Amino acid sequence: MLHRRAFLLTLAAPLVGWPLVGRGAAFQAAPSPLPPVAWSCPMHPEVVVNEAGKCPICGMTLETLRLALVWTCPVHTDIVQMQAGSCRRCGRDLIRVTKALSFTCPVHAAVVSLDPGRCPRCRRTLVAKYSVRPHGDHNPKHGGSFFMVSNNWHLEVTHPVTSVFRLYVYDNYSKPFWPPGLTARITEVVSPAGAPAPVAVPFARTTHGYYEARVPNVAAPATIAAKVRFEAHDEEYHFDFIFPDYSKEPAIRPKR
Ligand SMILES: [Zn+2]
Ligand SMILES: [Zn+2]
Ligand SMILES: [Zn+2]
Ligand SMILES: [Zn+2]
Repeated sequence: MLHRRAFLLTLAAPLVGWPLVGRGAAFQAAPSPLPPVAWSCPMHPEVVVNEAGKCPICGMTLETLRLALVWTCPVHTDIVQMQAGSCRRCGRDLIRVTKALSFTCPVHAAVVSLDPGRCPRCRRTLVAKYSVRPHGDHNPKHGGSFFMVSNNWHLEVTHPVTSVFRLYVYDNYSKPFWPPGLTARITEVVSPAGAPAPVAVPFARTTHGYYEARVPNVAAPATIAAKVRFEAHDEEYHFDFIFPDYSKEPAIRPKR
């Protein structure tokens, strides 16, 4: 396997500057050298290994893919670039994510290849295409801590201002949603002196896209413990959250 990977990298290295895909003014380049081929389960995208085989969870035959670490806008997910920076459409700071990289014909969309080359139907040069991956984005969205939780969902908890704690749940594509059976509560608050005090403050669903709990007079730096049940028949999970400072929403810089 090591030999095969070394071979792939040698092959890829001298080919600098892959074809660009143009959609209006947006051009997307492929990383050079190309990321190595990896194997993933069609049913369990969190399974990614560097050799062929069967999924350890379900036994399906793994499929090949290339995963590229790229920078994208949290809102404009078609923006892909190789360097950090701000979104040319909205000015938001770009975030680092993992996307699947393949090559496709600009005319024959059904032609998809893991390798650059030419379209077998029209001989056009294939262009880089980036696809969103489950678990490709583990960036906090609201300045909090982002966790992957047991059922392949994600959790973010923030402490935006005094007394206020917010809880966000995201699916495996890191899109926010509201699991119907979710219950969550703060069970403990640690005083600045380090003394834990039990509390029982439930998180209530708001109309703003998050659950909120208020514990009077708790200010940053804050440490809380919470228990979250994601689905009605699920067990209750314990989390400790430390907020050295208040959580800040990502800044949106005005476009120049
Ligand atoms: Zn599987
Ligand atoms: Zn943007
Ligand atoms: Zn073609
Ligand atoms: Zn994940």
